Amino acid sequence: MSLQDITTRITDAETAAGRPKGSVKLIAVSKVQPNERVRDVLVQGHRCFGENRVQEAAGKWPEFKEQFSDVDLHLIGPLQTNKVRQAIELFSAIHSVDRPKLAKALARLAQETGTCPDLFIQVNTGEEDQKAGILPTDADAFVAECRGLDLPVQGLMCIPPVDEEPALHFALLAKIAARNGLTGLSMGMSGDFERAIALGATHVRVGSAIFGERVKPEE
Ligand SMILES: *Cc1c(COP(=O)(O)O)cnc(C)c1O
Repeated sequence: MSLQDITTRITDAETAAGRPKGSVKLIAVSKVQPNERVRDVLVQGHRCFGENRVQEAAGKWPEFKEQFSDVDLHLIGPLQTNKVRQAIELFSAIHSVDRPKLAKALARLAQETGTCPDLFIQVNTGEEDQKAGILPTDADAFVAECRGLDLPVQGLMCIPPVDEEPALHFALLAKIAARNGLTGLSMGMSGDFERAIALGATHVRVGSAIFGERVKPEE
């Protein structure tokens, strides 16, 4: 698939859901992709990208940012507290806020620097042991805690379990967001972004459907 195909499918899904055109933001997930593929997508005019590792993003994005203006880089993977400073410099949004310690570190640096990326709280909707994210039962309290720290919480993010119907998880995430007055929903990947849009996604994170299969295996 090309960037153009995915953009068309997003517009069609917006229309099918009775949502305004342009209400869904496409985050092109460029992790582990060769630089030429990423450059291709930049040259086509796309500016919003997602990376799941701070280190990898720090290695390739400063140069792209010099060559292309208005790059909008989103962190969609785990963030260690000792990388928060670096993350704040690189990313305009962080989708993986998942624990009080990280929230406090972000708040401290936001105070110090006077800026903070847009934040999404990651919810472990499938309650999987190996997955990051706050448990659904703890989500309301954690949203309140982040707000108490003056953090700019835009919404929630989830990664459904691979072997379950994602729509159930998207619906749960939308419900938790609504009852907390949050409008951002970061959900939907290559295999399920249309279902996510039907259930209210505002940000879809699409990698392989745009760039092709990832060349290097993920760690
Ligand atoms: C890799 C990744 C994606 C993109 O996955 P695809 O199936 O390639 O679209 C989306 N979200 C997160 C958090 C990821 O790590």
